[in-house]
Parts: sequence; C-alpha cells; structure tokens
Amino acid sequence: MPELPEVETVVRDLRPLLAGRTVTGVRHSKYKLRRPWLPKWNTKATGSHIEGVRRRGKWILVDLVSRKPKASGSPTLRVHLGMSGQFTVVDASSPEADHVHVVFALDNGNELRLRDPRRFGAAEFFPDRAALEAEMNTELGPEPFGLDPDYFRTAVRGTSRNLKALLLDQSVVVGVGNIYADEACFHAKLHPGRAGNRVTLPECDALREAIEAVLTKAIESRGSTIRDYVGGSGLRGGFQNEFAVYGRTDEPCPTCGTAIKCARYAGRASHFCPVCQKRSVRRKAKAKSVQKP
Ligand SMILES: [Zn+2]
Repeated sequence: MPELPEVETVVRDLRPLLAGRTVTGVRHSKYKLRRPWLPKWNTKATGSHIEGVRRRGKWILVDLVSRKPKASGSPTLRVHLGMSGQFTVVDASSPEADHVHVVFALDNGNELRLRDPRRFGAAEFFPDRAALEAEMNTELGPEPFGLDPDYFRTAVRGTSRNLKALLLDQSVVVGVGNIYADEACFHAKLHPGRAGNRVTLPECDALREAIEAVLTKAIESRGSTIRDYVGGSGLRGGFQNEFAVYGRTDEPCPTCGTAIKCARYAGRASHFCPVCQKRSVRRKAKAKSVQKP
C-alpha cells in the first residue's frame, strides 16, 4: 500500500507534467472505485486549467481553475492510490493497460490515467477547495515534517495504545503506514508494542526525529515498490532495498545481528529487533510512572 513517500514521489513527478495544462476531456470505466468517480464530474472537470499538484497525508490533490463562465470557487481533484493505484501521465497514443478507471485528457496530447487493479483507491471532484480542506483537517493530523515536539510528546504519552497503533493513526500524524512505522520504531530503538504512556520524553523526541528521517530518506529513494507502486512518471521506487526490519523476519538486525522478529500489533504484522528495540523503560522510571493517579 502506498504510504507518504510513495504518494509524495507521485506528486513530485506529476507536478511539472500537469501544472499549466488544461483538461480537455474526462472518461471513466464502468467499475467503481472505493470512492467512485461520478459521471456528472466529467463535464465539470473538462475545460479546467491545472494550477498545481500537492499532497495531504496520503491524498493527492490536483488544484483546478474552472474556465466555465458561471462557476464559482476553486475546484480540486482528490485521488487516493488505495492498495494498488497508479496515477501517471502518458502519451495519449500509448496503449491503455487493464484496470484504468479514470482518464483525464490534456491539451498537449498527453493523458493523466488512474489505474487501480484492486479498486481500493478513489477519484473525486470537489467544487470548493476551501471546504474540502476544512473537511480533511477534521480527520487528519499534522504532516510528519517539522512536527511540533510538544504536540508529539502529548499525543504519544497521553494514551495507553501501543506505538504501532499510534503511528498508524492518521489523526495523530499523517502519512505513516505499516512499513515506515516499523522502520521509524527501529531507528528510535523503541519496540512497536510499547504503550505510549510508557515512553519517556527523550524517547518521544527520538521517535519524532526517526519518523522524519526515515520518510525523508524514502522520498530520496522514490519510495518503496512492494507490488504495483510506480511514481507519476511510471518509475519504480528503491527504498525496499534499504529496509532495516520491515519484511526481514529471521534476517539479522543491521545493528546487532540478532534475528528480526515479527509479531502482530494494532492488527498488523510488525517487524522489530528484540534486542535493540526496548519493550519497556528502566524499572526506576516505570515504578515512578505507576504511582501517578
Ligand atoms: Zn538489533
């Protein structure tokens, strides 16, 4: 499933290919995505000028300027890649692969195509960008880059949920999924099963820094290609070759050589080094926190 680095790579690839272009037509397949594209949106999007492409969490936002005389507000296309989505710009004459569900024709002879074999993705048209952003902000937490240290400390230490559950919760911090939650916990030397309220302040800071470092490095490698993922220009990612723990069960820990373990936390397979990643804080600190009312 594409996580933040993969979606960011798609956005960075698409930006120069889409900005300044005009949508000259839209067509869609008869199959429904998880959040399906509605036929009435074909005419609404057609004729729009593409202002820019950006990301919010794991959502891709294509900002439009309507050229229709009576249109008001600034529309936005919102796309989610789901489990297997590919959102790419290709020459309109290139053969259309199976499972292409929405196609935006562009004024330069290219097409923006959303392909999604498993159809867990989404493509939607919102007439009012400000209303969409307000709605998204009620569900999504802050972006993981430049996170406020106090916010993160409070969010982590204010719950008995484990770190894996916390990191997957998009209302705490957006964009971190199964892969990067495991990698961030490893780099912070924290066990994914550790309860949030058993994490010390320096450990909170280490985890926040690890999230940012892991995501930054993954973006530099164009994300991780596990199955279907490709960037907006069709290129695969390379970070899957740099995983420290994710998917490496029984392989040696890159730090100490101990076999990586896999266990379920928050209902998801979680990979960790049983030696490097501490399951609990030192006894003294633990005894102190237990006495709190
Ligand atoms: Zn280790």
